[in-house]
Amino acid sequence: MTGWDSLARELACWHDAGKVATVWWRDDDAVAPTDALERLLTLSRKHTAGLGLAVIPERCETALAGTLSAAVRQNQAEIAVLQHGIAHENTAPAGEKKTELSRAAPLNDTMERLKSGQSRLAGLFGQGFLPVLVPPWNRITPEIIAELPACGLTGLSTYKAREQPMAAPGLLQVNTHADLLRWKPERGFLGETEALGLLQTHLQDRREGRADADEPTGILTHHLVHDEATWTFLDRLLGWLKRQPAIKFLAPSEAFSHSALTNQNEKQSAAGKGPM
Ligand SMILES: [Zn+2]
Repeated sequence: MTGWDSLARELACWHDAGKVATVWWRDDDAVAPTDALERLLTLSRKHTAGLGLAVIPERCETALAGTLSAAVRQNQAEIAVLQHGIAHENTAPAGEKKTELSRAAPLNDTMERLKSGQSRLAGLFGQGFLPVLVPPWNRITPEIIAELPACGLTGLSTYKAREQPMAAPGLLQVNTHADLLRWKPERGFLGETEALGLLQTHLQDRREGRADADEPTGILTHHLVHDEATWTFLDRLLGWLKRQPAIKFLAPSEAFSHSALTNQNEKQSAAGKGPM
């Protein structure tokens, strides 16, 4: 059985249960118009697949705003800009896992820089900016998470199944679960079986209650470092997912909609079940 067959079988279970498997797509590290970004935007347009583009505020070139507004005009799917940290600088001590949003800098300084970054992205991208933080290397300390709502951020996105819908009051967490790249020992495409397996595992965990059923399953890409195998697979994957009746491919604003969450919670409490 191929990875595609296994994923199709999992989706058949969703379909038989009368459930809709929600999926979304995040791409990280955008800073400037590049050929790779054009290729990414072309795939979004080709498959009418909504895209959350995590942009690094302090490294972002103003020309990116023009590129994205042109892309939005040509694309029926939503392209939303998310905030990718501050400057994507590693602040971890040598030998520890890379992170920017750590305790290395005073909390007030970090929050000020996050706020400035948010203002910059809101100014450059206007309505196209969603106040969602994507921490570089998907790592962030709890002390910073607690301060994000006061900073104007309403969403958080890291990697792997979320523990709860709200990372803090007013802060909806929607992660990604299938990173298409392998980072070590050398960077490249993860592989078809492995990538499809990540999607299938999260969907199955949602369906069988090991993960929050309401968290959309997220595809994670990094356009600047894709090899040809990654591009080919991403093209095929988006086309395949869009053809599956059990799947609803969410726009980023749908994935991070607080009203959708409230409605779901109301439905659950009406049915006598508390939210997960
Ligand atoms: Zn990054």
